[in-house]
Amino acid sequence: MTQTIAIDNSQKLQLAPLDIPNRLLLGPGPSNAHPAVLEAMNTPPVGHLDPAFLGLMDEIQSLLRYTWQTQNQLTIAVSGTGTAAMEATIANSVEPGDVVLIGVAGYFGNRLVDMAGRYGADVRTITKPWGQVFSLSELRTALETHRPAILALVHAETSTGARQPIDGVGDLCREFGCLLLLDTVTSLGGVPIFLDTWGVDLAYSCSQKGLGCPPGASPFTMSQRAVEKLQQRKTKVANWYLDMNLLGKYWGSDRIYHHTAPINLYYALREALRLLAQEGIENSWQRHQKNVEYLWAGLEDIGLKLHVQQEFRLPTLTTVCIPDGVDGKAIAKILLNDYNIEVGGGLGELAGKVWRVGLMGFNSRTESVDRLLEVLPQVLS
Ligand code: PLP
Repeated sequence: MTQTIAIDNSQKLQLAPLDIPNRLLLGPGPSNAHPAVLEAMNTPPVGHLDPAFLGLMDEIQSLLRYTWQTQNQLTIAVSGTGTAAMEATIANSVEPGDVVLIGVAGYFGNRLVDMAGRYGADVRTITKPWGQVFSLSELRTALETHRPAILALVHAETSTGARQPIDGVGDLCREFGCLLLLDTVTSLGGVPIFLDTWGVDLAYSCSQKGLGCPPGASPFTMSQRAVEKLQQRKTKVANWYLDMNLLGKYWGSDRIYHHTAPINLYYALREALRLLAQEGIENSWQRHQKNVEYLWAGLEDIGLKLHVQQEFRLPTLTTVCIPDGVDGKAIAKILLNDYNIEVGGGLGELAGKVWRVGLMGFNSRTESVDRLLEVLPQVLS
């Protein structure tokens, strides 16, 4: 072949094979994937319409229903990270002009606000200082005032470490005729969730936290009430990739090609969910609670204070107050560079004020806590 165009080699790197440090990921996510999950991910891919893969999709759907405690038929994993699944809930449920009431008590509440606005929602907010949660009576007052089509809440605010109680909120939403949308990104697998009992209509999560899987295949579910709203839409879902009318035909019995699923990520997710079912979801919740209480006690023993009132603290993510005069970023840097331990810094209102310590999925183990508690006093002294 005669070559007439000269190759531009200016971006051509001659690299050594991949060499990534082995870190203990105790930040806000991703957490370390379970070794068996990484092994499953190594399985050679098959086609995305191969019967073996379609069977695996059914298994994922069923195990997601178990993990979330729901019977919702439309329960799938979105190909993308938690934000894609978040966008899927908004894109499918919001029609231009719909009043959407969002509880904002942290960074991810604000992301929902931005996203719902982009889909034409008439967004209303209720706010709380970061680290606090909404009471049922505050939610009732807000529903009375705004009469929304959808109430959206973040169950586990990763930016603050607070757990929003949901018990009773679904009944309120039914009384006011609205759907309940819930972010469970930092709660699924590690914090008790009873989607059907709570009356949640739309929920999403991620794979890289409580499920102990790499990021990229994100749980999504919608109730029959939410499906009915979708069916009654006057306008098309404004996002082709995340339109459940189309995606549902790939995950449902039609098996119509929609996109090429990231096959190996779904292998990983299936293995993560299998391990969780083997452990038993209630045992996983207890494990997360036990280990985080061990962490809290250890942190308090070395004189550190926690940002959230104990009753509302998450078992998956703890916000630790950075003591006066301590450079939080510098400490996190030493932990990472010298000890291979990742912890997160504060976001938004809590930037520079807290560290965020995650104990999620495979990482919720006494060994992880021991390692951090062994190193932290040395680094702080
Ligand atoms: N919602 C919450 C509460 C989160 O913590 C995150 C990420 O940490 C997201 C949404 C977005 O998920 P992702 O980063 O996987 O896109």
